[in-house]
Formats: sequence, C-alpha cells, structure tokens
Amino acid sequence: MITLKNHSLAPYTTIKIGGPADEFINTKSSEEFVSCLKSIAPSIPTILGNGSNVLISDSGIRGIVIKNSSSDIEIIDTAPIPVKFNHTYTQRNENEPEKYLDFSKIDYDESDKPQVLVKISSGTPLPYAINFLIDKGITGLQWFAYIPGTVGGATWYNIHGGAYHFSDYLESIEVFNLETGKYETFYKKDLEWKYEKSFFQSNPHLVIISTTIRLFKGDADLAKQVKNAWIAQKTKVQPMNSAGSAFANPSLEDSIKNWGEQKSTGWIIDHELGWKGKQIGGAQISLQHSNFIVNNGTATAKDVSALIEEIKSEVQKRFSFTLEPEIKFLGDF
Ligand SMILES: Cc1cc2nc3c(=O)[nH]c(=O)nc-3n(C[C@H](O)[C@H](O)[C@H](O)COP(=O)(O)OP(=O)(O)OC[C@H]3O[C@@H](n4cnc5c(N)ncnc54)[C@H](O)[C@@H]3O)c2cc1C
Repeated sequence: MITLKNHSLAPYTTIKIGGPADEFINTKSSEEFVSCLKSIAPSIPTILGNGSNVLISDSGIRGIVIKNSSSDIEIIDTAPIPVKFNHTYTQRNENEPEKYLDFSKIDYDESDKPQVLVKISSGTPLPYAINFLIDKGITGLQWFAYIPGTVGGATWYNIHGGAYHFSDYLESIEVFNLETGKYETFYKKDLEWKYEKSFFQSNPHLVIISTTIRLFKGDADLAKQVKNAWIAQKTKVQPMNSAGSAFANPSLEDSIKNWGEQKSTGWIIDHELGWKGKQIGGAQISLQHSNFIVNNGTATAKDVSALIEEIKSEVQKRFSFTLEPEIKFLGDF
C-alpha cells in the first residue's frame, strides 16, 4: 500500500479531469482497503471506485483519497432458500428509441430459475464481475453491461440498467463503520432503495466493503448474447470520456406540464435548447447523446461545471423546473 502526496486524480476518473489529492492511497485488496480505513478512522476519507460518476474539482481534494481496487468474487451458496424476485424499476422509454436505447427488444424474465448467492468485494469492476459470473453459468447482471463502475459504486448509487435496479439483486451489504471502527452488515430489506438513491449516500461513515447479491443459474448463452447486444447499443450513444448522464430525467409531472408526455433530458437539450455539440472550453455536449458531457481532451472541471450550470439555468428559464445533476461533484466548486 503506497501513499502518494499531492497526486493527480484525473487518471482515476472516466472523464479524466481532476486536480490532486493531498494524500492518495491505492488499495489493491479488501484487506488493504479495510486496514487503510482502520488506520484513519474516525476521519472520513473520499472513496473512489472507478471514478465513473464523479467530477473532481481542478483544485483537487483535500485530505485522504482512497482508490478501492479490490477484486474478489466468492460464490457462497448455490442453493439458498429462494426469495421472490422483486422487480422495482420499469424503464422510462427514450423518446427516440431508434436513435438512443431500446431495451424492450432484449429484456426477458429469468426469475423462475434457481438462485445463487454471490459475495463481491466492493472494488471489483462491474464488467469483470458480469463476465466472470456468466462464464460460471450465473446470470442476472447482464442488464448492467457497459456500466464502467465498481460493485461498491453500483451499490452506493443503486445503478439502473435497462429496466432493472441493482437493488433488485441485493441481499446484504457489509460495511466498515468509520465512527465505531467495526464491521456491520445491512440487509437490503431493511433499507430504502430508490432510483439512483441508497442509504449510503447520506451516511459517508459507512464504507461498503462487499456486496452479496442473489443471482440465477440461468441461460448463460442468452445472457452473453443480451450483454453483447446491449453493449453494442450503448457504445453508440454513451461516450466513455464522460462522467455518465449529466442530469436525471425530469419528473413525470414537470414533463407533462410542459410537453403533455414524458420527455428525457437528452431530448430537451437536443430538441428544445438545440444545444447538441455546444462547447465551453474543452467540455462539450456529446454529439452521441445530449445528456452526456464529454472531455474533448483539454476540458477542466470548471468547463464541465459551467456547461452544466448553463444547461440548468436555460431549462429553468424556459420551462420553470430544475434539472438535477446526476454527476457527483467532489472538492471545491
Ligand atoms: C459511459 C458511462 C455509462 C454509464 N451508464 C450508466 C447506466 O447505464 N446506469 C447507471 O446507473 N449509471 C451509469 N453510469 C454512471 C456510473 O458508471 C455508475 O454510477 C457507477 O456505479 C459508479 O461507480 P464507480 O465505482 O465508478 O463510482 P465512483 O464514481 O468512483 O464514485 C461514485 C460515488 O460512490 C462513492 N463510492 C464508491 N465506492 C464506494 C464504497 N466502496 N463505499 C462507499 N462509497 C463508495 C464515491 O465516494 C462517490 O461518492 C455510466 C457512466 C459512464 C461513464
């Protein structure tokens, strides 16, 4: 475990932006991750998974940043007592599925298949976990293909893929409590899960160490096909040199008030603002999808946040509701 002082964080994010951390520690296993957390408790560090949902300020982050690079997958029970699969999310359709994403053609139900419990350390890259498990005949995570985060980030954010939430698959989460210096286990059923919301977002002293999920002994060939088809669709419209979707979609109520039907933020930026391709410095509204802001190579966090602010205020001015950013801002803005 090496501690680096004044270390640039840009390489640890998908958008490749961000100033230095006062102290940067890259932990390569769960043991290193926990021992690092124990050594600094009760202080609360900044945790980075794969940096795919964050915009780090140009002045960086004060204090300690821990990059979680642990990667372990354990199949813990191949025949648990089955639990009814609870499907909590149905995708709000894109306004132009032929141009963006069309999940309806690849969705299928496998909830009648035998279940399996798998424990995954939080630093494990989600794409690696999906491939590793499908190769073992364990399916369920194929809907989350192409999402470039870690399992810890997926749990913290409660990611959505197609018509599914990550919480649909959760069983329990093991955390390290920085206040008490102890491990704790939280069960999915005891916590509230919403679209892109988890209990952990308002409890930064609880660091996710591993997540146990309930998957299926499903059709691995079909899962692989669906995964590849989904990746092919997403590659066309979701640029990797971004921090994911810039904004959440407007609420149904705001959408109906303005357009009489549900509209996506990408559609609003594209069709109402006509801002596809708009640039501030090196930050640009993606030509692939208007709800993504990309780094053209020279963007600063200031450029990206200025573009976010301009979009927000233009939408507020013209439609009298506020777009909520989905990107997590770290450091001073
Ligand atoms: C091209 C692209 C496509 C995307 N597609 C989707 C999509 O389809 N659906 C979707 O929901 N998201 C999507 N995202 C957003 C993003 O990938 C997810 O939110 C992902 O789960 C973030 O994980 P991460 O490891 O990168 O987290 P990071 O960005 O590193 O961190 C995000 C937050 O989680 C916290 N965190 C991370 N790990 C832990 C931990 N172990 N314990 C406590 N807190 C932790 C961090 O402190 C930070 O506040 C996309 C992003 C990109 C760039």
